[in-house]
Amino acid sequence: MLVDETGKRHGRLTVIRRAGSNKAKEALWLCRCDCGGENIVRGTDLRKGHTKSCGCLEQETRVRNGYKRMRHGMSESRLYDVWTSMKTRCTKPTHPHYKDYGGRGISVCDEWANDFQTFATWALSHGYDENAPKGKCTLDRIDPDGNYCPENCRFADMEVQQNNRRDRKGNVRVYLGKDGIYHANKHCGDRLEGASE
Ligand SMILES: [Zn+2]
Repeated sequence: MLVDETGKRHGRLTVIRRAGSNKAKEALWLCRCDCGGENIVRGTDLRKGHTKSCGCLEQETRVRNGYKRMRHGMSESRLYDVWTSMKTRCTKPTHPHYKDYGGRGISVCDEWANDFQTFATWALSHGYDENAPKGKCTLDRIDPDGNYCPENCRFADMEVQQNNRRDRKGNVRVYLGKDGIYHANKHCGDRLEGASE
C-alpha cells in the first residue's frame, strides 16, 4: 500500500516527488531540505522520523556534541586548570598570589590568554603529560622575571623548578604553596629569584 508523501513535511524535508523504489521495492521520495539540499529517502524512514533532513541536521548535532564533549573534557582536565590559574594570578588583583605575578608585571602572552586551544597545543607538544603524578609536570617560566609565553615556558618537575630558583648559596628562595604554586620565601624577601650564575 503506497502512502503518497508528495508535498508533506518531515522535519526539515519537504517531499517533492516519488523517486522510484529500492531493490526491496520500498517507495523512495525525492525531498528538498530547508537548507537547500536534496536527498532521496525511503517513505518508511520519513514516516518513522528516521530521516528529518538532507544530513545537515545530523551534521549540526555532531558538531554541537563534539564541541560540548571537547569543552567538557577540557574543563575537567588539569591543563585547563593550569591555563585558568596562570591567567588569574596575572590579571586578578584579588588572587591571593597576584602580587608575585601580575603585581610585579608578569603577564600571559595574547595568543595564550585568548585561546586555550593554542596553549593546549603548545603544552602537548612540549612535554605536558596530563597523567603525570602531581608535581612532576608543572608549568615553569625559564626566566622567573619573564612572561608566560612559548619562548619562556617549559614543563618541569618540581625539582627542576627548585634548582632553578636557588640563590648563590644554594638556599631555596621560594617555597611550594598548597596550591601547587611557588611563592617567595618570606625570609628571603618577596621576589622569586632565578639561579643567575
Ligand atoms: Zn539540509
